[in-house]
Amino acid sequence: MKTGKLHLTTALLTLLANSACTSAQVTDAPNQQEALRQEAPVTPVAKDTIPFGAECLIACYPQFVKGYKDNCLILSDGSTLVYDDGQQKTHTQKMDNADPEDMFSQPYDTNVWHPKKNYDPGRIRNEAIFKHMYGKNKQKVLSQLVKVDWFGQKLLFTAVNGAADSLRTVAKDLAATLPPTYQKYFSQSSTFNWRAVRGSNRLSAHSYGMTIDICTKYSDFWRWSNPGKEEEDDIRYVNRIPHEIIRIFEKHGFVSGARWYHYDTMHFEYRPDLLRFSQHKKN
Ligand SMILES: [Zn+2]
Repeated sequence: MKTGKLHLTTALLTLLANSACTSAQVTDAPNQQEALRQEAPVTPVAKDTIPFGAECLIACYPQFVKGYKDNCLILSDGSTLVYDDGQQKTHTQKMDNADPEDMFSQPYDTNVWHPKKNYDPGRIRNEAIFKHMYGKNKQKVLSQLVKVDWFGQKLLFTAVNGAADSLRTVAKDLAATLPPTYQKYFSQSSTFNWRAVRGSNRLSAHSYGMTIDICTKYSDFWRWSNPGKEEEDDIRYVNRIPHEIIRIFEKHGFVSGARWYHYDTMHFEYRPDLLRFSQHKKN
């Protein structure tokens, strides 16, 4: 059932992309408001202005996302991917059927430690773009994994987009910055696993090889702490991972599941696109 759904989604995306990358006008409302506040002359937004999220994808993944035209991302194999499908979606619908634009609907705020309801920045992912970059199936992803030394473990991580190098830098920085007592948080870590998100049909970010779970013994997952609760329910927030650890991962391009309302505090995912987007939105 899961595979069928994924195939259908891919087929639909391909169909949309091949038929017409329609130029649904994307306005840049926050920038316009900013310009008005400063009483500077307002420059008309050109019809083919690149949305900032698309710019971040191009900047962070230049090998795979080559450009943007008429509401479409232009990918390295010459195919196109509709950037904004124009659909209004609930939070759950965004996660189940995200276009690339939806991935940036929640900037990742590094000041938030108690996320408000449904604040899950990074949890909304367009599957097509990640499959294009990291591999469309388990074998393809596996073929691009390399070993990373991680506190006595050898973990498999993707070499694509410099993700493995970034994880190596995280390990060095954690070891150099934090006292040895913190090493308990890094034991029995895990990375690649081609699987669905627990309790859903969506492909987990672990499938792409750019995600690590650190020690579960000191971690919390919203479903474990809130038995019987579902996505739409109010839940209780718990996190025991020290903030210093989260900051170091973030410094090197990873987002943390401890920032999510639907928390997964062991989970760190290589998402320089979202960090870049959020950093610029803040300034
Ligand atoms: Zn995880």
